[in-house]
Amino acid sequence: MDVFKLYIDGQFTDGAAQFSSQNPATAEPWATIAEARRDEVNRAVEAASRAFGSESWRAMTAGARGKLLLRLADLIEKHADRLARIETQDTGKIIRETKAQIAYVAEYYRFYAGLADKMDGATLSIDKADMETWIKREPVGVVAAIVPWNSQLFLSAVKIGPAIAAGCTLIVKAAETAPAPLLAFAELIHEAGFPPGVCNIITGFGEECGTPLTTHPLVDHIAFTGGPDTARHIIRNSAENLASTSLELGGKSPFIVFADADLESAANAQVAAIFSASGQSCVAGSRLLVAEEIKDAFIEKLIGKVRGIVIGSPEQPETQFGPLCTIQQKRTIEAVVSRSLEQGARLVIGHQPIDRPGFYYPPTILDCSNTPQAESVTRELFGPVLSVLTFKDEAEAIRLANGTDYGLAAGIFTQNLTRAHRVTRKLRCGVVWLNTYRAVSPMAPFGGYGKSGFGREGGIDAALEYTTTKTVWLRTSDEPIDDPFIMR
Ligand code: NAD
Repeated sequence: MDVFKLYIDGQFTDGAAQFSSQNPATAEPWATIAEARRDEVNRAVEAASRAFGSESWRAMTAGARGKLLLRLADLIEKHADRLARIETQDTGKIIRETKAQIAYVAEYYRFYAGLADKMDGATLSIDKADMETWIKREPVGVVAAIVPWNSQLFLSAVKIGPAIAAGCTLIVKAAETAPAPLLAFAELIHEAGFPPGVCNIITGFGEECGTPLTTHPLVDHIAFTGGPDTARHIIRNSAENLASTSLELGGKSPFIVFADADLESAANAQVAAIFSASGQSCVAGSRLLVAEEIKDAFIEKLIGKVRGIVIGSPEQPETQFGPLCTIQQKRTIEAVVSRSLEQGARLVIGHQPIDRPGFYYPPTILDCSNTPQAESVTRELFGPVLSVLTFKDEAEAIRLANGTDYGLAAGIFTQNLTRAHRVTRKLRCGVVWLNTYRAVSPMAPFGGYGKSGFGREGGIDAALEYTTTKTVWLRTSDEPIDDPFIMR
């Protein structure tokens, strides 16, 4: 068994206990993981707080912090193959995706490296003749960054990158499911030369590790990615320390196909939207809203594409579709699909057992056009299940698209430019993809409306979330201050 340790205050350390991590493709344990509980959390937060207040960190210029991130990016590229293999073994995500994603993670660090010395304050044209007034932009402080199990290297990069660029220090909590890639990544933080305590990486369970972290009085900001129920806990926890929060939560994103769309391109994008990463993506386009008149033709196309998907070992380069990450996830999805069928949804394809060890569940399509309230339509499944609804006109497409508490992403397929703009304007969500899906970039802000959370990751906006401002007033007059009883 491989062993993964916690990284606290520049040292690799054992935890309060150990637990094992399973390979989802074999259902066998493959790694031993050190578990952080209250004591380890306290040590990590105190280290981050000490590092934040240290003269050496304060004295490090923004440009020097940028160089630290550049060194980290180079190391990520150098070790990308190893990290990708670890992520594939721990999460079951296919190797072609983990390799591509990790190589791109380096670009996120480079983007924030470049931003580090460009987060300027401002001078104000103040309405008082004897004052100079300026705004300094300062780091928000000690950040608790909490990520879910999917894409931990990517989801932590969009927190570590901007936080370090801004001058914060962090405690990154890897999810208890599949924490190995992020714990292995700590070796690169060490090798890049991050000062001790600046970026601590731990893992553990919600109650024993997440709660002491998010209630800790020395934590100033909580950057959370995960599900809405956990987010509610975190908001309640932050009532203890009054930390600011940013929340990246789930979605039930609509994928809208108008009758004039390029159906071949739309079908490929729909497959990418719901079946890549076996559907375990926060932006999964899990609700297909298709114009009534092309429904049959479009579903036929999708069936053809689903039949061609190569299901297999995630470690093989030709595999396109691997297992789910956990057995619980598989059982939940099977149960929701069974209930949706009882509620009247029609099975188009999928939902049959796959004869392999591990947590496999096949690409599945449900026609819910007569059962728009079926559970598969309303609940985020975080799996490869597409629910199909139909619309008669543009107004109905928009009503269905917005008919969810979530608001993370949407796809629109149409060749009609004016319609693309009209519909985009009316959708309540943080990302709209027109004639494409699942495109991301370090330059582009990402985040949700409604129950999909608040705050943005990616882009310049994200870095500003890790800063706060200090307004400085300088009186330029040499005359004594006159009336002390009026506000100046
Ligand atoms: P989860 O909410 O169960 O867990 C996320 C993290 O929160 C884990 O590290 C977990 O240990 C921690 N946690 C649990 N209880 C806690 C507590 N009381 N205090 C502090 N931390 C606690 O999420 P999951 O099931 O692992 O991941 C799936 C969810 O994440 C889905 O809803 C998915 O849509 C969402 N997600 C969102 C994005 C995005 O960017 N918007 C990206 C990926 C995943």
